[in-house]
Amino acid sequence: MDSELNRRDFLKKAGVIGGALSLAGAAAAGFGAGRSRDSYTGWGRTAYGGDQFFNRKPFLADKPTYVQTGTPRRIEYIEDLFKRLGELRRLMNATEGPRWTFDQGAEALPGPLRNYYREHPGALEQYKIALEKGREQRANWPEYENEFLLAEAYSSAHASFLSGSFPAQPQGPPEVSDFRGITETNLKLKSPRHGSDLIKQITHTFGASLVGICRLKQEWVTQGFLRGVGRTEFDVPAHWKYAVVIAVPHEWDSMYANPTYGNSYDAYSMLRFISGKLEVFIRKIGYSSRSHFPPTSYEIAMPPVAIDAGLGEQGRHGVLITPELGANTRLAAVTTDMPIEPDKPIDVGIKKFCDKCKICAEECPSGAISFAGRPDKDVRGYRRWGIDQEKCYTTWNSVATSHSRGCRICLAVCPYSRKRNWMHNIVRQVDPRDPTGLFASAMLTMQKKFFEYPGAQEYLPPPDGNNRTYLGPPKWLRTDEWFDI
Ligand code: SF4
Ligand code: SF4
Repeated sequence: MDSELNRRDFLKKAGVIGGALSLAGAAAAGFGAGRSRDSYTGWGRTAYGGDQFFNRKPFLADKPTYVQTGTPRRIEYIEDLFKRLGELRRLMNATEGPRWTFDQGAEALPGPLRNYYREHPGALEQYKIALEKGREQRANWPEYENEFLLAEAYSSAHASFLSGSFPAQPQGPPEVSDFRGITETNLKLKSPRHGSDLIKQITHTFGASLVGICRLKQEWVTQGFLRGVGRTEFDVPAHWKYAVVIAVPHEWDSMYANPTYGNSYDAYSMLRFISGKLEVFIRKIGYSSRSHFPPTSYEIAMPPVAIDAGLGEQGRHGVLITPELGANTRLAAVTTDMPIEPDKPIDVGIKKFCDKCKICAEECPSGAISFAGRPDKDVRGYRRWGIDQEKCYTTWNSVATSHSRGCRICLAVCPYSRKRNWMHNIVRQVDPRDPTGLFASAMLTMQKKFFEYPGAQEYLPPPDGNNRTYLGPPKWLRTDEWFDI
């Protein structure tokens, strides 16, 4: 009896374990498939750091799950709620000719609308109720506006892309344009720390990879041209107190295939959206704001502001290098008078590493980057490595593709521009903690010995070079993978 019980117990447990194993197997398979680019799902990171995916391959069906009950036909525009109501509103607010009112009923409406409401009795009455509810909703809003301030601001920020030019270009001096559309509120932030935590969280949900905050130093504000005003010498507006600095990377694989397969605008377009939405959000919670984003919509110099905000250090190539994204870091900012807590700058040894590395200088086709052992140029009161902008721009115009007017080889070859994996994560953690510099030297030797670099001229088209890229292009950007050429 005992043994039978044990056996049954065993079988039961085995069943549970078997089930658990199957589930674990399914989960592992799903994990693998979901991470695969072929699965079309689960590529993106959520604002909370993880991938979300579902392996749909085991569930592929021969036909969709909707049910056909008659002869299908195309959708009439009038069947779309918002198009239908738009037509009705135009008739109700007509500026020429008689206006339609609910009292006239469906029979007084023009053809398609009349037919629709004939076939849907009660729908007009329902719309009338909805309009009355909308009026009540607006009248009751003062009762709720404090409670839902953030939800309303968040929604408005996302909805602002609907306006013709997004974000709205500044019109007039900053003292006017940066305050346009501000919500008047009697609410007081609990503390500057609450302010900065809130802004960072919101900005990450907008798609930012990195967010830092600094007090804005006067010397980082450009002079001579002010959006909304034009050519002018101007004092830094008093309300440009802080800069919220935002960073995103270029798509990694096309970035590695610079100069010919990379582009600048993948990151620029994201930055425009993120900073534009943040501008709207901040105004909707009661403070002034102005977004600054590439390629040319800014009044502040981005790398030093990002350094002040603790995002990283400036490399030999003049580009900001962050521990997370390396030189594959593109920047935007929002200036504001919202009381927020600034971050501290960081020193993770990047500048020291640049003293020895010089890979970007060796690979630069134009010779624009300095080879000096230490920063060698004084620019507006600060010392940095010199960059010859004209030579750099000449390379932009020399490489085989002009689609994005750029080169970006120095971003691609920089040893800090590495994707997230265990090996690179170890390097990221160990190097900044090694006071001797030996680890960095060993890494640099490995980098130069084991990784092939095409060589500066090879990136140029024939006869000077061979249109080489730092790493090979991703399959999805190779024309010959998809077209017969
Ligand atoms: S973008 Fe190209 S040409 Fe310009 S500095 Fe970088 S590597 Fe040199
Ligand atoms: S390639 Fe080397 S020298 Fe150039 S910025 Fe990167 S780490 Fe510094």
